[in-house]
Amino acid sequence: MNPSARKPARKPVIAGNWKMYKTIAETESFFAEIRPLVAGSAHCDIVIAPPFTLLRRAVEAAEGSGISISAQNLHWESEGAWTGEVSAAMIRDAGCRSTLIGHSERRQLFGETDEGVSKKIRAALDAGLQAIVCVGESLAEREAGDTEKVLERQLSGGLAGLTGQDFSRIIMAYEPVWAIGTGRTATPEIAQQAHNFIRSRLGQAGPPEAAGRMRILYGGSVKPGNIQGLMAQPDIDGALVGGASLEAKSFAAIVNFRA
Ligand code: PEP
Repeated sequence: MNPSARKPARKPVIAGNWKMYKTIAETESFFAEIRPLVAGSAHCDIVIAPPFTLLRRAVEAAEGSGISISAQNLHWESEGAWTGEVSAAMIRDAGCRSTLIGHSERRQLFGETDEGVSKKIRAALDAGLQAIVCVGESLAEREAGDTEKVLERQLSGGLAGLTGQDFSRIIMAYEPVWAIGTGRTATPEIAQQAHNFIRSRLGQAGPPEAAGRMRILYGGSVKPGNIQGLMAQPDIDGALVGGASLEAKSFAAIVNFRA
């Protein structure tokens, strides 16, 4: 298939993951600064994922800007005795349109499993949220030659039982753990290879046309200086950005990668 004929059909997504950063005042300043910088950026979907305490304020501050707000995590139950947890319905109620699921920090530091990822995807989709599902191998796994095995396991475990319609509300994010917060970006070629593998596996797990339409984002030390090379790859449809999403100017420069 000709990549240049295929790529325009998938609208790019540039998403920022704020992790555990920012106060309400800093959130207000961020949106005041970024709004004019992305006012003409209709070429891509723009998403910001702040911590839970900032979600409602971020939704209000982003209103009318074209930026949608995402949570970073959720619990799979709709309500109940789950101290410290937040449900998909609550996230939706705060005005969010999506949630990250299975970020490597959740997997590595908080024991998130593929089974948990699968339950969270179901809960998010059932509540009307889009799911931004993260997969990726560690450095040891890459060095052992296990990258595809790990991606395969995360995809088959996490996406088990989903329909073609479910696929249309999922965005995948390939985030090699060794590239997150390390300044060590995967080369565009390495990222493309993994994205291509993910797309081919998605095509086996669900309807091939749904896999062809799914946006697959790259994440791992994306900066204004490397976004163009990544976006030139046929299977890279956007970016999930950590550190560089905290500054309005650098995040806007990534959003405006075509300029
Ligand atoms: C992330 O947190 O998802 C991420 C990719 O972080 P960074 O861009 O800082 O590597």
